[in-house]
Parts: sequence; structure tokens; C-alpha cells
Amino acid sequence: MQFDIFTLFPEVFKPYLETSILHRAVQNGLLRVELHNIRDWTSDRHHITDDAPYGGGGGMVMKPEPVFAAVEAVLGAPPACPVILLTPQGRLLTQQVVQELSLQPHLALLCGHYEGVDERIRQHLVSDEISIGDYVLTGGELPALVLVDALTRLVPGALGDPDGALDDSHASGLLEYPHYTRPAEFRGWRVPEVLLSGNHAAINRWRRNQALARTFQRRPDMLARFKLNQADRDFLETLSADPNHPSAGEEA
Ligand code: SAM
Repeated sequence: MQFDIFTLFPEVFKPYLETSILHRAVQNGLLRVELHNIRDWTSDRHHITDDAPYGGGGGMVMKPEPVFAAVEAVLGAPPACPVILLTPQGRLLTQQVVQELSLQPHLALLCGHYEGVDERIRQHLVSDEISIGDYVLTGGELPALVLVDALTRLVPGALGDPDGALDDSHASGLLEYPHYTRPAEFRGWRVPEVLLSGNHAAINRWRRNQALARTFQRRPDMLARFKLNQADRDFLETLSADPNHPSAGEEA
């Protein structure tokens, strides 16, 4: 998957892109991220990329000329791939949106700063707008990294375990079951016996029930949308009937 990222602060990206799964994906040729400094497309002596807002008020606004020039120089006019503006006013990023965007082999990400970008950029250059949550950050760099990270996890071969993303919270529609690793006992807290049993059918059922219980307790809104099978329904009935059910608490 290829990303062209347009930003005033390209240095923000490098440490994260050079770490862990993203770094490995770049090394393996599965991920390509080109960083473009919008300042390089200014034509004035001081390389100015922002200006005061028409109508007055505080803050600065990113000027249209260098942003249009940068995107069109790299991607052509009209741009050869979707151009996503990161903005708290965009559609909310969910795993479903990540899955939809993962069908695109090439995306351009535009990071705002200050009060944001001149409205004509949004109207005439951008094809999609994404928000990573209902809060406001200083710039679009962290949201762009969030998007690159979430999308890279879905690139076939990017995760060590090919099925690694399937059970992830939100991927299946349920929150994921709890994980344990060695030691089998730590400060008197034991790993659930079933996980040590080697009985894979029992382990799978336990994991499924834990995922159902977690989602029931923490995100009933997700459970309402999830397609349950008969075994799921039976389990949830016992859970609702018995608040002391072993899966009702955080403990196994
Ligand atoms: N004045 C803008 C508003 O109220 O909509 C917020 C500007 S914010 C300080 C600066 C930049 O950070 C935005 O242009 C956007 O690129 C990025 N940003 C901030 N919060 C974001 C969020 N929740 N999701 C995506 N991008 C965000």
C-alpha cells in the first residue's frame, strides 16, 4: 500500500515509521510512505504557508497555493488517488472505515495545522475527510499516523501471524478475549486452566465466550449489531441470568 503524506512537519513521522510492524512492512516492500513538506512548494522568500483568517479572529489558516501546488506536483491534476484531509470535522474513523479504505492501493493524506486549511482546499482538492475522534489535536500528523498504522495491519503479510488481525477488537464486531502469557502463575494469580489444557475446541469456546462477555459488559451497542449463533445466545442468556457467572467479571 502506498501513502503520499503532505505535511508541514515531516520529521514527526520518521521515528514511528522506523519502528516495529510499520518498519518491517516498509522493509518488506508492503508499505511505501512518501513524505512531502508543503513548505517546499511555497514561492515567496520566507516560505510562508499560513495567513490570518479573513473576517478576523485568532489563529492562522493554511494557505491554498502551496497545498494545491504540492498535491498536484506529486499526484497530478486531478490527483491520481483519493486525497484524505485529516480533520476533526471528518467522518469518524472506525475499523469498518479502515476496511473500506484498505481496498485502495494508494492514498494521499493531508495534515492540517493551526486553525486548519483554507476551505477551498476542502472543497476542490480533497476527496474524503477523516476524524480520529471527537477531540481536537494540534495537527493532522498523529491522525495520519493512526490511519497508516490501522491500514498497514490489514495489508496481507504485514503482521507476523497472518490471522492476527481477524480476532482484533472491532474487526470481528466483538471486543477481543483476554490474553495471557508465561508464567502460568504470577503473584498467586493463575492463568485460566482451559488455556493450559491443550484442548483447542474448549479454548476456542472459552475465547468466544470471553469476547461475548466483554462486549456485553463494555459495549452493548456493538453486541446489538453482532450476528450471534445459537451457542452465543445460550451463553449470553446464562450470563444475564447469573451476575456471578465466572465470565461476568474481569477474572476468568
Ligand atoms: N479549527 C479546527 C476545527 O475546529 O475544526 C481544528 C484545527 S486543529 C487545531 C489543526 C489540525 O489538526 C486540523 O486541521 C486537522 O488536520 C488536525 N486534527 C485535529 N484534530 C483532529 C482529529 N480529531 N482528527 C483528525 N485530524 C485532526
